[in-house]
Amino acid sequence: MKCEIAQQNVVMAVYGELPDELGGSLERHLEECEECSRELNAMRALDEYLALNPVVEPSPSLLAQSRMRLDDALDLIPPHGFLTRLRSNFYGWVGHMQSAPALMTLLVGTGFLAGNFTYRYQVAHAPAEAPGVVTMSNSTQGSIANVTGIVPTPNSEIVQVKYNRIVPETMEGSLDSKEIRQLLMVGMTQEANTDVRATSVKMLSNECRVGHACVEETDGKGVRNALLVSLRYDKDDAVRMNALHGLEPYVGQDRRVRDALLEALLHDKSASVRTAAISLLTPVQSDSSVRQVLRTVSTQDDNPYIRTASFQALQDTAGIQ
Ligand SMILES: [Zn+2]
Repeated sequence: MKCEIAQQNVVMAVYGELPDELGGSLERHLEECEECSRELNAMRALDEYLALNPVVEPSPSLLAQSRMRLDDALDLIPPHGFLTRLRSNFYGWVGHMQSAPALMTLLVGTGFLAGNFTYRYQVAHAPAEAPGVVTMSNSTQGSIANVTGIVPTPNSEIVQVKYNRIVPETMEGSLDSKEIRQLLMVGMTQEANTDVRATSVKMLSNECRVGHACVEETDGKGVRNALLVSLRYDKDDAVRMNALHGLEPYVGQDRRVRDALLEALLHDKSASVRTAAISLLTPVQSDSSVRQVLRTVSTQDDNPYIRTASFQALQDTAGIQ
């Protein structure tokens, strides 16, 4: 019997798990081999030591302390000692272990398997693709926005998942800066967040009303266009009202703004928005298309106050003319 085999069998023997047919040859080897005999004595000493330290229901802190002390003890052992070999051979004879429940239980109970011993083994021997190891190209915090691709590894548990993360950022700057305005225009489209939409619309409307650059961009993506979209489509009355007020300076000069106001006057479900539209149309109420809408509203609007206001606006225009 070789020393390596003998020392594995010594462990089994100490815990009474060595099959009978191996006992004889181990005994003969130990009679001849001084080193293996020493290993046997060391193993028995360890067994006695462990027996003096009951492992029934240890507290978590005791277990943690035990693991640390075991780890320290392992570090103190010379490189060629018994435990070093035990450590390197440990998983080599897990097969034997499965037929040795008493030893297995003891080692698990003393933190042998679950403690640093196992950890060190895994670090040293883990294949690069050990399951449970997560590697990230970017560890930035933030919720996951979407998964864009899944690449399985053939014949393996390993899978590569590509995804995008929403990274929270903050920008601070002047309302006149292009970057802030772009963000506010994005804010105007946040379906799920009425506060953000209302604040964005209100701020950009104020910018337009105080005469800061609110020019129409040629690509139709300027602030004025964004306010037109909010007036037409936002589901919140207050947001549409703010958009309406932001457009006021352009009623006289921008036909699209005037048409949007007429549309609001005819169809907006909020009586406040329809009422505000009547007053904002005052500068252009002599315009024929405006007069036509006022006439329709003055007879057909559900709200008597709005019917009266429209009628009044028509009378005022007639008086001027
Ligand atoms: Zn030997």
